[in-house]
Amino acid sequence: MIGNRMIARNLIHNPKLRNFLLKIFGQKNFFWKLITPLLKAQKVMKGDCIFCKIVRGEINSKKVYENEKIVAFHDINPQAPIHILVIPKKHIEKIIDISDSEEDKEILYEIIKACKIIADQMKISERGFRIVVNTNPEGGQTVYHLHFHLLGGRQMRWPPG
Ligand code: 5GP
Ligand code: ZN
Repeated sequence: MIGNRMIARNLIHNPKLRNFLLKIFGQKNFFWKLITPLLKAQKVMKGDCIFCKIVRGEINSKKVYENEKIVAFHDINPQAPIHILVIPKKHIEKIIDISDSEEDKEILYEIIKACKIIADQMKISERGFRIVVNTNPEGGQTVYHLHFHLLGGRQMRWPPG
């Protein structure tokens, strides 16, 4: 991991090295696929994860629900009249990183329970709502700290696009 951190740091701060590697690998996409996990690992190690900052209260958020394991807050760029993000306090990058541990099972349960409680509170249970977990680039994930989108207050369409 220390090796990864050194490589990632050099890639960020050393344009010559970055261009050199880009030439070697030729394809930009392949290059970014290779280094993205390293950059993400470095960000998390530096405590740069935006949702971890929200959990620690270093970035303001409009919280609607919180317990020992999870926190829920309004999305900064809502895609529906009700758009809440429900996240674990523990840094888990994405849904496919959930392990078989009791802790992770409890986290998943708490997230689903929170969605139900919030949907009830916001009076969208009966009308209906949608829960979305974007995963990895083609899934549209932009923040690599697991989050469940709870969307409601308007008619949802299908296919989602
Ligand atoms: P994703 O694209 O990863 O599925 O969802 C990330 C979500 O986080 C987006 O809907 C985006 O609007 C939201 N988001 C990003 N940064 C912040 C922030 O600082 N505060 C809040 N409340 N939401 C954020
Ligand atoms: Zn995080």
